Amino acid sequence: MLKTVVSEGIHVRAAAVINRLLGFEGTVVDDVCFTDTAMVVQVRLRSQVLVCPCGRTSRARYDRSRRKWRHVDFGRYRVVIEAEIRRVDCRGCGQVRSEWMPWARPGARHTRDFEDMACWLAKRMSKSAAAALLGTTWQTVDHLVARLVDTHLDSERLDAIYRIGVDEIAYRRGRKFLTVVADHDTGRVVFVGEGRRQDVFGRFLESLGEDGRARIEAVSMDMTAIYRGAATTHVPHAAICLDPFHVIKWAGEALDLAYQTCREQGVKIAVAGLTPAQTWQKARGALRQPAGQHDPTRTAIIEQLRRKHPRIHHAWRLKEDLRRLYQVPTSDAADHLRRWINRAKRSGINAFVTLARRLRRHRTGILNAIHLQLSNSLLESINAGIRLIQRRSHGYADLDNLIEMIHLCHGGITTSLPTETH
Ligand SMILES: [Zn+2]
Repeated sequence: MLKTVVSEGIHVRAAAVINRLLGFEGTVVDDVCFTDTAMVVQVRLRSQVLVCPCGRTSRARYDRSRRKWRHVDFGRYRVVIEAEIRRVDCRGCGQVRSEWMPWARPGARHTRDFEDMACWLAKRMSKSAAAALLGTTWQTVDHLVARLVDTHLDSERLDAIYRIGVDEIAYRRGRKFLTVVADHDTGRVVFVGEGRRQDVFGRFLESLGEDGRARIEAVSMDMTAIYRGAATTHVPHAAICLDPFHVIKWAGEALDLAYQTCREQGVKIAVAGLTPAQTWQKARGALRQPAGQHDPTRTAIIEQLRRKHPRIHHAWRLKEDLRRLYQVPTSDAADHLRRWINRAKRSGINAFVTLARRLRRHRTGILNAIHLQLSNSLLESINAGIRLIQRRSHGYADLDNLIEMIHLCHGGITTSLPTETH
């Protein structure tokens, strides 16, 4: 039961204060009532003119009813906004719709401020923490996030994407995978699909329509072959860019193989104060590190390897030289890569002969990445963000939830606190 606890004179002043605190545009507070836990604020629109959510105004009222919206708490009180809402028989959209309200989105049961706050919080903390702070349930927070993401996904966000990156992202402790597509120009996630098969990526490309696909100029990806097929089938004109990081990783793996072979052959290297095992451990570190970062001990080890085991030293130089592919002027990259492939082929080091063949096969993709300056590092950072979302929510039992959260946090959805807009 509602009880008015204010006398007539104070009533008017209290209403003005509440009106100010709410800050709803074009709205007047008529009455404020208290229950044990909630403050119920009766409001009404100042204007008699009906505004349809489509923007068209009308005087043709269809019917009216009273409705309540949950608002952000004031102190320890829940705040409920109550108002009469009219339906308008709109000529613009040809339907009967509830009128536009300044404090809530069409169809919402919470005020705009409440919804914005819930989504702002959900971006930064677990849904249960956000719910506790707002005095609601996590299911409500979840529902509000879903509504916001839904609106966002309906918009024409795919109309202006030209350069995209695709990658697989693990969830459920690495047992399952998602395919994530991001826009290089905005840094946003534009698609998340279940599984890491090429048809998942293919489905996304299909959804772009003919014009959308024609606009795609470049697709960056790692060196695994999963998504390459879909790209060549659906956007054959687009430049496939193979991630530099993975090229360097391959070189590192080839060097590791050469190192193992060298160690097994019993070559002796020594550093004062270190056991042979420790020396080899250090040697491995030295080989992996870029030359410029070596301390004197590591420089000495590399020098010993040069004298005692020219082959491993040669392998190290090949790896270093491949790194330089990403530092030479772009116009020299093709020559640099061609020369590198020839040298690696002639090196007689099995791991590098194999790598040379591999790089020759992927030559175009590697050079595209250099010319267009695209890598998959955007996807790597999104991946890190997705791991954070999963940690925060203790593993996400529900896949739809996870996908929603990825769109909320990485899809370019802006969320702001009510206090930021005033
Ligand atoms: Zn309308």
